[in-house]
Amino acid sequence: MSRASLCFSPVDQCAVDRSSSLGVLTVADFECPLCIRLFYEPVTTPCGHAFCKACVERSLDHTHRCPLCKQPLQEFFKNRKYSPTVLLQEIVMRLFPQQLAERTQVHDAELAELSNLTKDIPIFVCTVAYPGIPCPLHVFEPRYRLMMRRCMDTGTKMFGMCTYDFADYGCMLEILDLDLLPDGRSYVDTVGGRRFRVIRRGQRDGYHTADIEYLEDHKTDGAELEMLQHLHDSVYQQAREWYVRLNSHVREQIGRQYGAMPDREDDIQASTNGPAWCWWLLSVLQLDPAYQTTVLSLTSLRERLGHLRIVLEYFSQS
Ligand SMILES: [Zn+2]
Ligand SMILES: [Zn+2]
Repeated sequence: MSRASLCFSPVDQCAVDRSSSLGVLTVADFECPLCIRLFYEPVTTPCGHAFCKACVERSLDHTHRCPLCKQPLQEFFKNRKYSPTVLLQEIVMRLFPQQLAERTQVHDAELAELSNLTKDIPIFVCTVAYPGIPCPLHVFEPRYRLMMRRCMDTGTKMFGMCTYDFADYGCMLEILDLDLLPDGRSYVDTVGGRRFRVIRRGQRDGYHTADIEYLEDHKTDGAELEMLQHLHDSVYQQAREWYVRLNSHVREQIGRQYGAMPDREDDIQASTNGPAWCWWLLSVLQLDPAYQTTVLSLTSLRERLGHLRIVLEYFSQS
């Protein structure tokens, strides 16, 4: 008897058969073998195994083989066409709507946690980054691949950068462009944002995290501001003279990496990070990372200019 003729039965035998056979299925039949939770955005690999999209992506950060049957998944990985397995999604939706709602809630809560930009923020431990200064990165370690993917998935497109010894101070980096290569590495164009102080260090899925507080320059006024402006103008002049004295080849090199020296700003207290040229100069001079971090941590423009003056005197003499 054909399936269609079954469905014409007066008591709708087809529906009875369907419900009795589906009744055998339990929620455990729809668990991802990697996270042992109900499938969330399930995708199917060419070898026929299904996983949550995020779970299989994490597995592929480490090895290009199916986590279950070990079949090679290079092509699957290279194309990155992780289309959702619609049938699986629909079955879960129809049979376990309550559990799916709970799973979605957990997923949303996890996403909100990953989007927090003061608590447990992802920290890339590598170099000193400065406000407004480009910081190009070559990402190849699995833990940082995961970090970059999360930054993009949550939409924050931001993470913290601290020196290789995970110093107490760092700078937020905003992702401007992410060029994902077929083998999983990526070139990430970032630019520095707000500075921060690390309050508490942590870990998440192999990468560093931190609770942070943002740093802002203290503002002054009256006679103090007048003195600050005077100091600023004189150090800016000093920097300018050092810059124009460089040979054109070095200036070109600097320009390619950091851009030209920023102009003097009308209001030296307009930005919470102070004038942009100070950060540009600190990047260009390529000082010791510990010293760079010290200057990064200062919330007094007067003190920052004091450091720059000494450094410029040293560089001008040498
Ligand atoms: Zn999973
Ligand atoms: Zn497989």
